[in-house]
Amino acid sequence: MAKTGTIFLVGAGPGDPDLLTLRAARLIKGASLIVHDGLVDPAILSMAHSDARLISVAKKRARHTLPQEDINALLVREALAGRDVVRLKGGDPFVFGRGGEEMEDADAAGVRVEIVPGISAANGAAAAARIPLTHRDSASIVSFVAGQCKGLAEQNWAGLAGSGRTLVIYMGVKTAPQIAEKLMEDGLAPEVPLAVIENAARPQMRVLRGPLAGLADLVEREQVISPALIIIGDVTARGAASNNTAKNSAISAILQELQA
Ligand code: SAH
Repeated sequence: MAKTGTIFLVGAGPGDPDLLTLRAARLIKGASLIVHDGLVDPAILSMAHSDARLISVAKKRARHTLPQEDINALLVREALAGRDVVRLKGGDPFVFGRGGEEMEDADAAGVRVEIVPGISAANGAAAAARIPLTHRDSASIVSFVAGQCKGLAEQNWAGLAGSGRTLVIYMGVKTAPQIAEKLMEDGLAPEVPLAVIENAARPQMRVLRGPLAGLADLVEREQVISPALIIIGDVTARGAASNNTAKNSAISAILQELQA
């Protein structure tokens, strides 16, 4: 039997090729077979060798091109045939990326799997929108939740948002109205600030801000499209540079000295 190949579960980050890890970039350039999601930016795919075989298993909400089981089977089949497979996913493979399922099926088939972490949308969007996910004055807890997926109504988000906490919602564009309602039913104040970051770390990025009670309107009015992330909490009100008044006396002293 031929030597079994390795499956590399590789995070492609939020979009900008500059945000790939060096290991991801090396694997993409050296790959002869890449199986990728729809979220992976074309600029990243164009880094592949011109002879590489690229297979898209793009998923769109409610229109699954390839069921997850078939994707797992495809990866395992190729590896068992002796080929290394670069399985390229948006963001990080282990954050709402189904990387866990692919790893487990490969493990069960005795195929070697290597995980290459990526910058998750939360980190990419926060950086691009200048929103610190934690801040000593605003938040010391961060939660990542899925706004779609298995039964939004059954998910318990109580306590995940509010004072001192940042809530990051993936896949929440379509369910934005229900999300806002759910959080307010849990006791969150309607005026809690939030930001919606569409196409983070890509040239067409948009950052929209508003209060929780206005989330449904904001998404509707601005015609927000996927991929977008919703960040809820006081940290989202810090981002704009004009909001930041100098509090550090050491820096004030330096500025005064320069003006003198
Ligand atoms: N594994 C990915 C998440 C996959 S789930 C990660 O770690 O980022 C898909 C969701 O991720 C999208 O619906 C959106 O909410 C978010 N997302 C991915 N890329 C994004 C981007 N460039 N900008 C904003 N949100 C993004």
